[in-house]
Amino acid sequence: MEKNQSYYSTNFQSPHTTFKEALLKGLAPDGGLYMPASLPLLSSREIESFSGKDYHEIAFLILNKLIGKEIDKENLQTICHDAYNFDVPLEKVCDRKFIMRLDQGPTASFKDFAARMMSRLMQYYLSVNNQHLTILTATSGDTGSAVASAFYGLKNINVIILFPANEVTVMQRKQMTTLQKNIQVIAIDGKFDDCQRLVKKAFIDPSLSMIPLSSANSINIGRLLPQSVYYFYSWSKLSESAEDKAIFSVPSGNFGDLMGGLIARNMGLPVSKFIAATNENDEFPEFLRTGNYKPINPSRNCISSAMNVGHPSNLARIVTIYGGVMDETGKITKAPDLKKMREDFFAVSATDKKTRETIADSYKSYRILLEPHGAVAWYGINEYFRHNKGFDSGKQLCISLETAHPAKFPEEFRQIINIDPPLPPSLTGLASKSENYFPLENDYQALKEFILKNN
Ligand SMILES: *Cc1c(COP(=O)(O)O)cnc(C)c1O
Repeated sequence: MEKNQSYYSTNFQSPHTTFKEALLKGLAPDGGLYMPASLPLLSSREIESFSGKDYHEIAFLILNKLIGKEIDKENLQTICHDAYNFDVPLEKVCDRKFIMRLDQGPTASFKDFAARMMSRLMQYYLSVNNQHLTILTATSGDTGSAVASAFYGLKNINVIILFPANEVTVMQRKQMTTLQKNIQVIAIDGKFDDCQRLVKKAFIDPSLSMIPLSSANSINIGRLLPQSVYYFYSWSKLSESAEDKAIFSVPSGNFGDLMGGLIARNMGLPVSKFIAATNENDEFPEFLRTGNYKPINPSRNCISSAMNVGHPSNLARIVTIYGGVMDETGKITKAPDLKKMREDFFAVSATDKKTRETIADSYKSYRILLEPHGAVAWYGINEYFRHNKGFDSGKQLCISLETAHPAKFPEEFRQIINIDPPLPPSLTGLASKSENYFPLENDYQALKEFILKNN
């Protein structure tokens, strides 16, 4: 029988709370991130039994343990079935090395896995009490489309997304503006930072306090937990025995994806190493190397743009897993067990030059298409074996995560290997769909009036 799970804040100043509160609040009152107070341990027999199951069934079994009694089984089963209605291909590269393609969701990004579950869990709790919520969020491109698509058509929730009018690609814009229904999109005559400033102002504006607002941002516990599922899924499909420990290589920006992997491992998944692969924003590899954590400000611009993060928000969660405490500014008030972290992680940073070389080499050698984020992860695997020469790499199970669809990066592919990646069905229909969005000046009063009129 499932117990009630409780959630603590990584700043340790707020009381423990329920899953529902953590989900609807997002950030803890003390500014910390919510984490499960205990992680259920799965037996190896149970994990091996996933090999015969579909993705949505595994998602249900894992999330049922993590959320506990706060949601009934039938509803959670329905939510998982509805959220995960797309494939998760495991593509063999060579030996026992595989690419896990997390790019088959409706926005062709791995963020679909998290956003689709969070949105449905929010809808569930809101509809139980007939409450209403407005999601207000700023985007520089990719997060907005995943959030818009995830909440599209759900009851009790409407979504307002701000984007910088001239800073997103036509494809990114169309992924948000062709949905409509409960999704409203605003083009701000300004930059991404302006959008973010306007959103932050709305959250603290007392004259909007009667409107329940939530940001649905990437630190939400409802986005984190579902990211543990594909680690179980891929291992169960590819492993040969309970002792067959895998290496996972994870292209990392805010480290939510990698944090999902750590949760899976702490629930009993056989993992020998996580490769934390970053672009030139190498604050995490440097932290492991030197023991000193220094955020990179401003973050460096790289072609794997969703990983251009100079201070990863989920680092505070990783630090608590290793017994330390880090506040939201990145200050460490209690040191984590660095020795154990160095055993568990191999951290590596790829320059844009190495990323492009990896895209070219993996295509030439194996006919595998990797976009820049997935290429950073595959580079990490190659670097790992370059540093561990003694080790028979042919026998080791390696799973490299591909987090976006290659078709989202047509210019890179044309330049590097001179091919046009075929568009997945989710992106094909966009060209002919009609758009609807509201241009707005870069002015808080104008946004406020919009929110009051449209919540
Ligand atoms: C967000 C994102 C990442 C980074 O994931 P984190 O959880 O922030 O580490 C990697 N690749 C793509 C394509 C992304 O959109």
